Amino acid sequence: MNDCLFCKIIAGEIPSAKVYEDEHVYAFRDINPQAPTHILVVPKEHIGSAAELTEENSAAARCLVAAAKIAEREALTGGYRIVSNVGSDAGQTVKHLHFHILGGKRLDDTMA
Ligand code: 5GP
Ligand code: ZN
Repeated sequence: MNDCLFCKIIAGEIPSAKVYEDEHVYAFRDINPQAPTHILVVPKEHIGSAAELTEENSAAARCLVAAAKIAEREALTGGYRIVSNVGSDAGQTVKHLHFHILGGKRLDDTMA
């Protein structure tokens, strides 16, 4: 069994505020929200980051399709931002691919 925090959340070993789940994707509220709506969308398959994706793997596409459904459910009608940090310069702290959905306010104009 691996020691990945998000794998444990997906398995239900660590509690989370789930907002969406399907066969391939799990989504839950970020514990330290950076915006009024801050949700993490993760593939159930353990992938370290977007840098480990391959053409054959549909995990990222499935996450993005789920993110659009979640944004609609969360009524993010004014728009939202999807962010995936890769590696230390980007501040990736959990080494399991995840997409942040940020919304519910006018977001900063800068992305870096
Ligand atoms: P990263 O910095 O790797 O892009 O994002 C990791 C995110 O996971 C952070 O925004 C952080 O607040 C969130 N996070 C870390 N531990 C937990 C946890 O145990 N539960 C939840 N719901 N979010 C977490
Ligand atoms: Zn994992």
